[in-house]
Amino acid sequence: MAERKRVAVIGATGSVGTSILDICARFPDRFEVTSLAAGSNAEALLGLAVKFGARRACLADPSPEALSSFERAGIELLAGADGLAEIARMPETDHIAFASSGTGAIGALQCALIADKDVSLANKESIVAAGPWVMPLVKRPDQLRPVDSEHSAIWQCLRDEPKSDVARIILTASGGPFREWPLERMGEVRPEDALKHPVWAMGAKITIDSATLVNKGIECIEAMQLFSQPADRVGAVIHPRSLVHGLVLFSDATMKFLFSRPDMRMPSAAALAWPERLPLGNEEEFSIPPVGEWELEFQEIEARRFPCFGLVLDAGRSGGACPPLLIGADEVAVGAFLKGSIPFLAISNIIGLVLERYSGPRPRSLEDAIELISDGARMAREICSAIGG
Ligand code: NDP
Ligand code: MG
Repeated sequence: MAERKRVAVIGATGSVGTSILDICARFPDRFEVTSLAAGSNAEALLGLAVKFGARRACLADPSPEALSSFERAGIELLAGADGLAEIARMPETDHIAFASSGTGAIGALQCALIADKDVSLANKESIVAAGPWVMPLVKRPDQLRPVDSEHSAIWQCLRDEPKSDVARIILTASGGPFREWPLERMGEVRPEDALKHPVWAMGAKITIDSATLVNKGIECIEAMQLFSQPADRVGAVIHPRSLVHGLVLFSDATMKFLFSRPDMRMPSAAALAWPERLPLGNEEEFSIPPVGEWELEFQEIEARRFPCFGLVLDAGRSGGACPPLLIGADEVAVGAFLKGSIPFLAISNIIGLVLERYSGPRPRSLEDAIELISDGARMAREICSAIGG
């Protein structure tokens, strides 16, 4: 039996954090949860810290009440980006899962890599906006393990394969709720329509990004960074059943793909337990399914239906200031759409305008990149107010 790994989970109260903790709870002989972090939900974090016996926790900006409730429970409560960095460096942590939203944990991710910890990474901003300042810190193969299902699939297909043999990486997209909507009705989409994802239950922001396919464009940029591939070797297709998560085409024209049920616990387990696999399958999954169950349908992404996909992919190709700008612009556009202030189709217009209008320099440091996320957000807010949002 492998040694018990001591795990910290950043973003413990969120959707991915819950999947990661579910794996830890199901395999207590393999994982010990030592530290947990969240943004502001002190009550939920305290509940989880008590449940998992974590000795340390961190909140972005804890209130005096939160400090005293954690103290009463005998749990050390840290604060902000410095607190996350402290957790990332602690000798008693072997593995850190980054499942928070936003950019608050990028510094801690850098610390974890520098301290040679194993890292599971779900947070997209860390790679899309800050990839050039994060990826060079990876010290050894498989130190950084993707949790996003598509990247986990590619990572697993590339086990023991030299990157130089990769001809193309293809991610799959379910196509979201609007894959078959009449194009002329796209202007009428309401937040409640866009929040109905046909396959995955996720946080609101990423659910809207999946409906616009911004998420798939962002994932293509992530794949370029994570697997050191040029933009022209990375693409995506629609695969409505979400059973194949990613495909790799090799130089000899053979292809590998990863097939699994769409459940974030699968990539979470792959990242936490690597190089082992955990016994997660149920009886049904180990029997040979009727042949029809294996029918796999793939479709091209229609540019007219999903204008955001091309915009984001172009931003990835251009690199420089574009990826952080689009992260900021998209965050604001999605927020405005969810509040009902702008129509669904305005999301692509706003991202397009922000990318077009920016004429400043490329980022030269992580601080510049984070500043560009704010610039993108500010420009998007100005456009939203101009269109009445
Ligand atoms: P959620 O909104 O469900 O959860 C976000 C989590 O991050 C919460 O625990 C939140 O705490 C915490 N958090 C926010 N700010 C901070 C901070 N400054 N410090 C520490 N913790 C913080 O998001 P998701 O789980 O959906 O997504 C998390 C990340 O994973 C995103 O980058 C997303 O793009 C990516 N991702 C998500 C997938 C999914 O299936 N949901 C799939 C693949 C990637 P609090 O509860 O206190 O607000
Ligand atoms: Mg994904």
